[in-house]
Amino acid sequence: MTKTAEVTSINVLGIPFDDNSSFMFGAAQAPSMIREGFQSHASNMCAENGLDLSESPGWEDIGDLEIDDSYTAFDEIQSHITGILKQNNNLVVLGGDHSITYPVIRAYAQKYPGLSILHLDAHPDLYDSLDGNSQSHASPFARIMEKDLVSRLVQVGIRSITGHGREQAEKFGVEVFEMKDGIPDNIEFEGPVYLSLDIDCLDPAFAPGVAHYEPGGMSVRDVLTIIQQFKGQLVGADIVELNPARDFNGITNMVCGKFLKEIIARMISDAKAV
Ligand code: MN
Ligand code: MN
Repeated sequence: MTKTAEVTSINVLGIPFDDNSSFMFGAAQAPSMIREGFQSHASNMCAENGLDLSESPGWEDIGDLEIDDSYTAFDEIQSHITGILKQNNNLVVLGGDHSITYPVIRAYAQKYPGLSILHLDAHPDLYDSLDGNSQSHASPFARIMEKDLVSRLVQVGIRSITGHGREQAEKFGVEVFEMKDGIPDNIEFEGPVYLSLDIDCLDPAFAPGVAHYEPGGMSVRDVLTIIQQFKGQLVGADIVELNPARDFNGITNMVCGKFLKEIIARMISDAKAV
């Protein structure tokens, strides 16, 4: 296994791609809006662990990956991510709709055998296909699990799951923590972890800038506590499904910006710890 000690930098990469959205488009506009929240002078660049990202050399924003062609998008994403990982940089990817997680994980699984995914979402995203699209943003974790790319998939915040979704979770051995049963306070992994953060895991009262409102969700603090406290080595992450067209006063941009700060700080800290 590649040790996280070899990581030279945490790269922030936007992927403004939402062609696999099902209900409405708009997530392609998210990367620049997440950056707006992240850099807003309404706040500062200090993470809650005390790390000042304005002074830390441990991370870099490397801009956006522009997709040439919708039909080759997943291959383009995978090869771009593979190139970055080969330079011993790890990534926080700014989506985009949730379909991008599949090609990102295809690249990550090659670098990090035994990788686990911690997936925060209102939805399990395990559809075999949706509306005839097997690459749908509702399907990335079906593709990841059927290809056996990760050792564990742990889902938290789930509160919209169909019978098909339950069958798929059972079939693939997904560890599902449904919102009705509460938020686990002892999430623990052996080895490298990838965090996939669908912003609709939050209650829409905290984050109205999403396409799929599913009330009864997590608070911003619930998510921060998970980012800061789960056991394992965080080696990669994505923040997906922000839809700026649905937001009010940029509130969801600020939430995403806060999560980005805390994820970068955790990844820098985990890379140093090994
Ligand atoms: Mn979702
Ligand atoms: Mn999702």
